[in-house]
Amino acid sequence: MDIAVAVECFRKKHGYIPSDLKAVLFDMDGVLFDSMKNHTYSWYRAITDLGIPCERDEFYQYEGATGKWTINHIFKRAYGREAADWELEQIYKEKSRYFNGLPETEPMPGARELLEWVREAGLIPVLVTGSGQRSLLERLDKEYPEIFKPEYMVTAFDVERGKPHPEPYLKGLKKAGVKPSEAVVVENAPLGVKAAVAAGIFTVAVNTGPVPDSQLKEAGADLIFPDMPVFAAEGFLQLLCFLKKLQERD
Ligand code: MG
Repeated sequence: MDIAVAVECFRKKHGYIPSDLKAVLFDMDGVLFDSMKNHTYSWYRAITDLGIPCERDEFYQYEGATGKWTINHIFKRAYGREAADWELEQIYKEKSRYFNGLPETEPMPGARELLEWVREAGLIPVLVTGSGQRSLLERLDKEYPEIFKPEYMVTAFDVERGKPHPEPYLKGLKKAGVKPSEAVVVENAPLGVKAAVAAGIFTVAVNTGPVPDSQLKEAGADLIFPDMPVFAAEGFLQLLCFLKKLQERD
């Protein structure tokens, strides 16, 4: 997709363009960590253990939502009701147990390079994740030393409403002290893209999983890249240069 076309479409939709960039908001799973296959496996096992039929791949569709939302979604389908608090707690604990028993997830290829570019451009990296998986959150600083400062992190523990509600991204903007027009989001999941778009932020989707591009587009992604290395190597700097030129022209 052409960057100029994407920015023009964004302007038509929102009435402004991204300019004077100050922050890049990053989703975590499927963007910074190649963790989605472990998440989908863990959800599949935890839910199947309850005798509820489900498909492993369906959990890619719920990526970005809170654990509570995912469990309630499955419960409503299976039992026509939401889960009680004790059920939510127990199932999420089981899901985490499976997750933590799997081989450690790898950092996403291309993520380090991209974060380096962000730092060199003097932009604030902000984490905006629906995850409450402490093992991954703790590994952030190990894999990406001194990139994400605690004051610039939004996790499952900070929000009432998870993605696709815009609250996580609005909170990320607030923490960074920037306007929607001064930020860009990097997401990989349809629900995450919807949340970012609803927050009024220019949204780049990196399609690191099995979800078709068309679903990311329908969710409102402004630009779609096939993976993080391509975005890190070409897309990000092209986007920065394009936006800078636009700004100088105006
Ligand atoms: Mg994600």
